[in-house]
Amino acid sequence: EKKVVLITGCSSGIGLSLAVRLASDPDKTFKVYATMRNLAKKERLIECVKSLHKDTLDILQMDVTSWQSILDARDRVVEKRVDILVCNAGVGLMGPLEVQSLDSMRQILEVNLFGTIQTIQAFLPGMKARGQGHILVTGSTGGLQGLPFNEVYCASKFAIEGACESLAILLQHFNIHVSLVECGPVNTDFLVNLQKAELGDTSLQQVDDLTLNLYEKYLQHCGSVFQNAAQDTEDIVKVFLEAIQSPSPAFRYFTSGDVPPLTKLKATEPGGSRYINALSKTMFSSEEQ
Ligand code: NAD
Repeated sequence: EKKVVLITGCSSGIGLSLAVRLASDPDKTFKVYATMRNLAKKERLIECVKSLHKDTLDILQMDVTSWQSILDARDRVVEKRVDILVCNAGVGLMGPLEVQSLDSMRQILEVNLFGTIQTIQAFLPGMKARGQGHILVTGSTGGLQGLPFNEVYCASKFAIEGACESLAILLQHFNIHVSLVECGPVNTDFLVNLQKAELGDTSLQQVDDLTLNLYEKYLQHCGSVFQNAAQDTEDIVKVFLEAIQSPSPAFRYFTSGDVPPLTKLKATEPGGSRYINALSKTMFSSEEQ
């Protein structure tokens, strides 16, 4: 019997790659429900899987910010169960905190936090009733350590960590595993899709010069990190596979293979200043601080 997998946010990036990999498994181990908010964006996925058999992939509409849309997608799972749930949909928000509108901040939390939690809520009762299941969540380094100009994004990803860890403790009693796949920079549409304050934006006119100066440095740093150190989605998919195939999955996986040095630094120094100083130096190094 095939393992039924449902993935959110499959129109691009990690979700798309994971859906393609699982649906093209040579042993046809999986039946994949690749879900996306906007079905008009399904062409890319279809293009990647066009040589595949229909029996391993289905594409469903699902907007994680709409409870009705989540329930409709759940109803369309013909097996009437999901063995592996991958909460992957997410968006970024970048810029000086003082220019972020309440609406845009809410939107990030709606997708990243409540979207993830509501998706889990919809599939949890079924998993509990069957006494098995695996919930995987695409986590971020930004959920483990603060990053300047990403306050609200980090807040949403930190919140996910808390929700997942809390849930994992309880779900042990139901034979349901929870795993976070912690990603650093990945080559996806993430940077294109995120809401980002651009340096010429009128909204930035009210911001002080030092902040703008540091923001410019941050954007340069971010650009070079993505250019030089970003992983490909295939690397991320390998880690998802490892987690999915493990008989006793870990709670946390790091896609780079190990805990990033600065996350380690943060964990070993409770006072927190060493992490804050080290990150500031890394990002704004040409600035004497
Ligand atoms: P991406 O932008 O290519 O993919 C995100 C997907 O989520 C998109 O397909 C988007 O349409 C979808 N999405 C957005 N709002 C949605 C909604 N309301 N309902 C359903 N789907 C929605 O970027 P990605 O890098 O593949 O992102 C996937 C996950 O990885 C995100 O949770 C992101 O936070 C996380 N992540 C990405 C990086 C990175 O550097 N790319 C790093 C760490 C974590």
